[in-house]
Amino acid sequence: MAGKVLSVASECVPFIKTGGLADVVGALPAALARQGWEMRVLMPAYRGLIPRLAEMTEVWAESLLFGGPGRVLAGRLEGIDLLLLDAPHLYDREGGPYAGPNGDWWDNPQRFAALSWVGAALAREGVAGWMPDVLHAHDWQAGLAPAYLAYQGGDDARTGSVLTIHNIAFQGWASAALLSELRLPAAQFHPGALEYYGNLSSLKAGLVTADRITTVSPTYAQELMRPEFGMGLEGVIAARAGQVSGILNGVDTGVWNPEAEPVAFSAGSMAGKAVARAAVCAEFGVEVPGPLAIVVSRLTDQKGIDLLPEAVPEFLSQGGGLIVLGSGEPALEGAMRALAAVHPGRVAVRIGYDEGLSHRLFSGADAVLVPSRFEPCGLTQMYGLRYGALPVVAATGGLADTVIGASPATLAAGAATGIVFYPTDALALRQALLRLVALHADRKTWARMQRNAMTHPVGWESSAAAYAALYGELAQ
Ligand code: ADP
Repeated sequence: MAGKVLSVASECVPFIKTGGLADVVGALPAALARQGWEMRVLMPAYRGLIPRLAEMTEVWAESLLFGGPGRVLAGRLEGIDLLLLDAPHLYDREGGPYAGPNGDWWDNPQRFAALSWVGAALAREGVAGWMPDVLHAHDWQAGLAPAYLAYQGGDDARTGSVLTIHNIAFQGWASAALLSELRLPAAQFHPGALEYYGNLSSLKAGLVTADRITTVSPTYAQELMRPEFGMGLEGVIAARAGQVSGILNGVDTGVWNPEAEPVAFSAGSMAGKAVARAAVCAEFGVEVPGPLAIVVSRLTDQKGIDLLPEAVPEFLSQGGGLIVLGSGEPALEGAMRALAAVHPGRVAVRIGYDEGLSHRLFSGADAVLVPSRFEPCGLTQMYGLRYGALPVVAATGGLADTVIGASPATLAAGAATGIVFYPTDALALRQALLRLVALHADRKTWARMQRNAMTHPVGWESSAAAYAALYGELAQ
């Protein structure tokens, strides 16, 4: 084995998920194992996980952990080496990981300080003889782990630390009055360390203390240093530019595999895709002579969904069609329903979350639209590549890093895999959609782009190699 990594996070597939963070935390152990790195995942024993504790062994305990007893149990569950932090006063509750029926849990600062505290303790002391070389903390919930490690370690030989930003919008704010209750040193309460506009931010604490900072795409790593993306932390991140890098997320190519769909197809045999397209058009009652585009997304401002009503009509008049699957802000759900009502037979909308349907849509679609205003990595454009549903994406974050936009040069080089537009506004999206119609009509170019897209690697291999290289630098 090349080394050992302790991953600390508040979510992990298949145990608990509210967002993409959980997919990454759950996928990394197997992907890193193939690179020779042994990874264990520390997360809270939320109520749903408590029955699983019976299968595990106690490896660590503290009688008073932020208001009650805490202990860590180790075991291998669903193929993941898991360390569960059992602290019923913090985690044994009805509701989600961050909020109950009446909103955010009032003691979230203590709940995730406890997770981070234990992460730092295990990174320093090891777990039943298993001594990690690297502590990998994810998002604000684990942001204090590198801080505790830095403030208590004191020696140069301490475990190296990485903080990964999956979502800069959540920064783990807490009142400065909690400083000592959260076991943080008063001497570090200044703008260069823990203090953030008079309060505490556990994400900022991680950003100033981790040895390395990563985010989920190289372009987003650059964008985060600018005010329009950094959400107040751009200066903190820019100050550490030399330690910041972007590593793309991968997709699970076993789950997202056109050859394993009910109507199978592949880059070398596309007949099944036409069958899947006809089936999905019939399912939604649309007839589309030109390109069939889809949107599979949260319906939010971030995703640029509000641009569709203005951008799409000309595309429809030139033969295009659109199917939207998503849920989110009520006003945008309403706007999508209205769009379908105005264009019957060309636009169809399904409000809801439906994984099975999303597979049928990617199988049948000619293109997937992702007009995001910001996108740390994004997954649907990668599903689109894999299924020959060519991505039409805004030039931001991970979208810019995963799609090779059609241009005279990339087409001549035979490299293009989609359409990239800039800026994220209705005019640029409208022009991108007209470009889509033109490229779709050019059968030979379209077939070449589909082949390029479907053979573009989107699995975890190269990302896992990048994480392994980063860990390797820290473990020396
Ligand atoms: P984000 O995490 O910002 O929502 P991503 O593109 O990174 O965006 O991941 C979104 C994931 O959720 C993808 O796997 C996408 O297919 C899935 N998804 C989003 N909305 C729906 C929906 N309505 N039905 C099925 N899957 C959806």
